[in-house]
This record gives sequence, structure tokens and C-alpha cells, in this order.
Amino acid sequence: MDDTDIRTLFGAEGPDGSSGIDDLARMLQGPVLTPGQDGYDDERSGFSLAAQHRPDIIVGAAGPADVQAAVAYARRNGLPVAVQATGHGAPEPATAGMLITTGRMAGVEVKPEAGSAWIEAGVRWQQVIEAAAPFGLAPISGSSPHVGAVSYTLGGGIGLLGRTFGYAADYVRRIDVVTADGRLRHVTEESEPDLFWALRGGRSNFGVVTGMEIELVQVSRIFGGGLYFDADDVPDVLRVWRDWTTTVPDEMTSSVAVIPGRNVVQVRIAYVGDMADGERLIAPLRDAGPRLIDMVTEMSYTESESICNDPTDPQASTMVNAMLSDLDDAPIAALRDVSRGDATVPCILDIRHLGGALSRPPAVPNAVGHRDAQYLVGVITPLTGTDVKVARDVHGHVLKLLQPWTVGRYVNFLAGEHATRDEIRAAYEPTDYQRLSVLKGVYDPSNLFRLNHNIPPALDS
Ligand SMILES: Cc1cc2nc3c(=O)[nH]c(=O)nc-3n(C[C@H](O)[C@H](O)[C@H](O)COP(=O)(O)OP(=O)(O)OC[C@H]3O[C@@H](n4cnc5c(N)ncnc54)[C@H](O)[C@@H]3O)c2cc1C
Repeated sequence: MDDTDIRTLFGAEGPDGSSGIDDLARMLQGPVLTPGQDGYDDERSGFSLAAQHRPDIIVGAAGPADVQAAVAYARRNGLPVAVQATGHGAPEPATAGMLITTGRMAGVEVKPEAGSAWIEAGVRWQQVIEAAAPFGLAPISGSSPHVGAVSYTLGGGIGLLGRTFGYAADYVRRIDVVTADGRLRHVTEESEPDLFWALRGGRSNFGVVTGMEIELVQVSRIFGGGLYFDADDVPDVLRVWRDWTTTVPDEMTSSVAVIPGRNVVQVRIAYVGDMADGERLIAPLRDAGPRLIDMVTEMSYTESESICNDPTDPQASTMVNAMLSDLDDAPIAALRDVSRGDATVPCILDIRHLGGALSRPPAVPNAVGHRDAQYLVGVITPLTGTDVKVARDVHGHVLKLLQPWTVGRYVNFLAGEHATRDEIRAAYEPTDYQRLSVLKGVYDPSNLFRLNHNIPPALDS
């Protein structure tokens, strides 16, 4: 569909003043669904059971032309637009407006000679990992391969190999995006440098991404897995891990999960190097104390899901995060208290070691913030059987304790009610945030794309 078609679409209002919905449905390859229709509930559902969209209209886009038509319709009818691929990262859910789902856009094409892959909007990391592996290549994917690759990358993307290679957003070569004017733009550093900068970090604020070209890295095997300790038997694991992180090379990326119900501390390892070096490097961790399970070994990158063992079933949970300049003994003690089995609400901790390539500026600058952070702390509380108000209080208390070391937030970990305006602003460097809001004013002045991690347009620019 060309841009002229898009602009002349839905020119006439229906009898209720807001229709054209049948015209829209006729134009699309994918379905158009409204509340009460068969398929509506399935289409709006995803991984998160805590933040579920209930829009006025869902467009199940089958390709870029469907997205263009949907955006034109939404603009014509004054409907704000939300996007969903897998439902792993919804901010405050859409209770009105339009939801564009991208699950049908699931193509992956690896170009081994270019060292890259073209990924469509609905692709999960698992598909990219599997498609790249036969060529000895891998994407900059994260702890769970079931997360949507496009949104993960638009938010930065702190992955299993982050310290070696940097953010996923640093590996984007081209982005196809439908902007608020209904145009499908093929955005590169050369074609539209401002928009290219803003999309990589600014998430969904600038349009609906229909696909992107990402660079792959030459990794087929890694040394990795989980070391599991009993938190009572080895109370000092967090401190041992923290001390150890200050000694390791950039090829070593690791994180720790503290799981209160099971009283387990899981140290997760991903080392890009040979097994003998890996064994030598992690020896101080193994010496921390008796291990319940030791799964660290050489593995294919296709098995890397086993390193963190993230949940795969839909979950209702709430989460806060803080990017830290350091992890002193004081925050460690506070975090240990909050994650104790007898704490007021169960708090799962996910603490990631940053630095290395994550701290270095990318070859082509982007909007990803806080490259100076050395650790990322996530505090997750499952909402089953938990009073959400108590969870909120506990999370607020943890964030206050971490404040002296906090440099900002990580946008990909801002989900649900925590994706407030202030928290989103805190995910960026102040000057970058200002530039993002100016660009938002250029590309989406009416804030059509506001059901997201929203950066309001600076309209006086
Ligand atoms: C179990 C789990 C593990 C995770 N691991 C990591 C990790 O290791 N590293 C990391 O950095 N993050 C991680 N995340 C966070 C994850 O990257 C974000 O939540 C991401 O937004 C999920 O994208 P999605 O498409 O799967 O989810 P969705 O909920 O479908 O999308 C999230 C948001 O992204 C936007 N969006 C989606 N598709 C498009 C599009 N095509 N165009 C424009 N906007 C779009 C929309 O605003 C949408 O609300 C994890 C999350 C979970 C739940």
C-alpha cells in the first residue's frame, strides 16, 4: 500500500461518526476484533496476567500494510494505539483505543554473508537463536528466549552476553516503522539519523516497528549455566558474587537470582571463551560453599535458556528496578533482608552485573541510558496471594534503600503500574530525554502512540 492510499483511507465517517471499521476489516489480511467477539480475549492475552489490554478494537496485523491501515484508522478516529507481540512487557494496559498485535508477523531471515538477520515484529528470540545457530551466529538475546526480540531491542536489551557485546540496541542496522502519519519508513543512520537514534532506546514512542535488521555475533558455544546455593547454608553468596564481579573480564557476564520461597540463590554464568578458562574463572564462586546444583558447563548457545531458567507460563507479578553505580555491603544487606523467606511479601531478586561493553558508547549513538551503571537490580513480587498495596510499600522501601547508589531505571524492566512518567524519564539521561520528547513532537505530535512507555511530545519545539 502506498502513502497516498493510506492518507485517503477512511475519509468518510460511518453513521455513528466513528466507523469505517468494516472498511478497515475488508482491507486487512489479519483480523479486526472488538469486545465480545470470538477471538478477542485470546488476541489480547499474553505472558503478563497483571497488565492485560482491553481495547475498543484489536487489529491482528499480518504485515506492514495492515499496520499502516490500522494506524490510519486509529488516527482518523482519534484512537490511541498500543502494540503487543508476546505480552512480556506491557506498561499500564490499554483500556480503550486500538491494540495492534504483531504475532502473525513472525518471519526471520538470516543473511550469513552479511552477519545479520531480518526479524519481523512478532518474532521471539528463540526463533532467531535457532535460525542463526547453523551459521555459527547468535543474536544479543536475553535471559528468556520467549521474549519478543523487537521490543526487547527497542528498550536497549541487557542480554546473556551483554558485558562482551553491549546492548542489543547497539546491533541494529535498519528499522522499518509505521509512524503516526501512516508512512512505512525504512530507517537507517543514513536515511533518518534522528529517528534512528530515537527508536533505539525510545521504545514504542515513534511508531509501530514492523521489522528490523540486526547484526549477529560469532558465538555458537559458551560456558554457562546456574550454580544453586541454599541461602541459609551459604548466607554470603551475594557478597562473594559482588566481590568476584570486580575481577572478571568482559567475556564474563553473570547475574544472581534470590528466590525466597525456595530459599535458593542462583548464580547465572555466561562466558564467551573456552571451558578451561571458564572453569578457572568461576572457581571462587564454587568455593563459596556447598552447591545444591551445579549446572555450569560448555553448551550450545541454543541451550542458553537453561542459564537463567526464567518462567515460561503466564504470570501476574509486579516489579521495580534500579540501575546502580555500585553494590556496596549496605544495599546487599538490605536486599538480603527483603528477600528472606519470612519477609512481608515474597520478593524475587534479579541482580545483573553490567559494565564491560554495556558501558561503552555504541558505534552509532542511540538513546539507551545509564551506560555508567555497574549493576541492575530487579525486585519481582508474584501477585498470586499477595496484597498488591503491601507489595507496593515493600518495593518503595527497597528503592529508597537503594537510592544512594541509583543512577536511574531500566526501561525494559518498567512494567505495569510502575511505568509512570517519572520512572520512564528516569530511564534516560536528561539531555536524551529532552531530545526524545522534541523528536516525539516531530514524529507524533498528537501522541497517537501513548499507550506505552510514553514520552510526551515537546510541542513548543
Ligand atoms: C521473563 C522475562 C525475561 C526478560 N528478560 C529480559 C532480559 O534478559 N533483558 C532485557 O533487556 N529485558 C528482559 N525482559 C523485559 C523485556 O525485554 C521487555 O518486557 C520487552 O518489552 C518484552 O517485549 P515483548 O514483545 O515480549 O512484550 P509485549 O508486552 O508484547 O511488548 C511490550 C511493549 O513493547 C512495545 N512493542 C512491542 N512490539 C512493538 C513494535 N513492533 N513496535 C513498537 N513497539 C512495540 C509496546 O509498547 C508493548 O507494550 C524480560 C521480561 C520477562 C517477562
